[in-house]
Amino acid sequence: MAFDFDLFVIGGGSGGVRAARTAAATGAKVAVAEESRMGGTCVIRGCVPKKLMVFASEFGAEAALARDYGWSAEPGEFDWKRFQTHLKGELDRLEEVYRSLLKQSDVTIHDSRARVTGPQEVALADGTTVTAKTILVATGGRPVRPDIACSDLGIVSDDIFGLKTLPKSILIIGGGYIACEFACILNGLGVEVTQYYRGAQILRGFDDEARGLVAEAMRERGINLHLGTNIVEMARAEDRWEGPVPTASDAAMSQALKGAASPLARREGGAHRPGEAGPIWVKGTNGQQDVYDQVLFATGRTPNTEGMGLQDVGVKVNRRGAIEVDAYSQTAVPSIYAIGDVTDRIQLTPVAIREGMAFTETVFKNNPTAPDHELVASAVFTQPELGTVGMTEEQAREQEPVEIYCTSFRPMRSAFAGRPDRVLMKLIVSQASQKVLGCQIVAPGAGEMIQLAGIAVKMGATKEDFDRTVAVHPTISEELVTMKTPMRTA
Ligand code: NDP
Repeated sequence: MAFDFDLFVIGGGSGGVRAARTAAATGAKVAVAEESRMGGTCVIRGCVPKKLMVFASEFGAEAALARDYGWSAEPGEFDWKRFQTHLKGELDRLEEVYRSLLKQSDVTIHDSRARVTGPQEVALADGTTVTAKTILVATGGRPVRPDIACSDLGIVSDDIFGLKTLPKSILIIGGGYIACEFACILNGLGVEVTQYYRGAQILRGFDDEARGLVAEAMRERGINLHLGTNIVEMARAEDRWEGPVPTASDAAMSQALKGAASPLARREGGAHRPGEAGPIWVKGTNGQQDVYDQVLFATGRTPNTEGMGLQDVGVKVNRRGAIEVDAYSQTAVPSIYAIGDVTDRIQLTPVAIREGMAFTETVFKNNPTAPDHELVASAVFTQPELGTVGMTEEQAREQEPVEIYCTSFRPMRSAFAGRPDRVLMKLIVSQASQKVLGCQIVAPGAGEMIQLAGIAVKMGATKEDFDRTVAVHPTISEELVTMKTPMRTA
């Protein structure tokens, strides 16, 4: 049977675009459908704009530090509009880069939603159907709000980049990557940040000592972090005005109320745009009631599988809505594959890209390749950053006897300025093989450091390999090769 395409990719994010380009490079006839903007979550509403906001948020503290180093620098005011205009231009440029890369690879672009209508058939939003020998689903995920009344008054991470004004105050719900990163970003931009996390410590799943240090640093920087606390109720502040008196700054609230849409507009079927609901009243599980300009739900993401027709053609979707795939990213329907966040394996851009490349090897190069999900390094872009590769101390202790090499100290750069900031360098080493099972770093630049440490750990380096590497002095990361005695064994 003749097909319209050899490959039809649904989703123009990092994974889908890489798979499309690498498959097209083998001579395959390829199409990509994207209903939103080319580049997907990472480029348009995730990693890239987030990292640019991280950079923006660091300059205030840098200016203060510069004074301690003898400069007469003043931090001044942050101009959200100016930054946002520049950000928009940069994202437009990057989207165009993605498009032209696809065009240069002779990939057909459909700016349209697509759904699967058969094992080898896809329907586009305009009603046309297209056939393909292989279909690749790379539709990613989206943020979810908790199931509480009026949760639509709050925003999710997608909405932040388009906010008309920066809020004066924000409540962030959650304790994962996104919650902690935006708590630090917004705090750095001068927003009054309160964070509620329902668990005992933020960043569940990361190394306990590292999580503790990040939480401490966040508090030191002025983030009002409440652990063991969740949101129970929320409403427009105006609707609760007759109720208990809020404890937040009434002056800030009434000022914000002046700028809110008219009560009539608000009554008309929740006719607000994300982030423009006006001040929001919130009640926490701790009984505290407050009013915030914004509430950000950073309560996890869900795979984009709804309304895709997947189950109708036999693709299996798990309880969390993720597509079930085998080691080669193949679904229960042999002609349909899936990669990236929609499969909920590891929700990271570079992992989706690797899955896309492994897919091309398997399907278009006759070289069955399973993407490698072992020892993936990653970083949380908090301030300071947390870089991690391999096991946490807690995971390793469960597996085998370990030696923990660890040091926490005040780094030269901020200690000179009398800042209390601390960093953490930690190696988790197998007692039996002396292999480094994990490396955990909390420090400015930890994302950059862990990328390099990750190579050594991935190569199976032993503690002796680290020891025989001569230090680069004076740096923070030299501690990784100078720790001589285990802090503890377990
Ligand atoms: P996470 O799963 O990391 O965090 C979700 C947080 O929300 C957790 O703290 C969770 O609590 C909490 N939560 C979930 N449901 C509720 C609820 N109903 N009420 C209150 N709290 C709730 O998700 P994120 O959205 O932060 O990030 C998604 C993924 O995106 C990450 O896992 C990561 O893979 C990726 N990412 C990577 C980044 C990077 O590499 N720097 C940056 C941003 C995202 P609990 O711990 O109790 O479950």
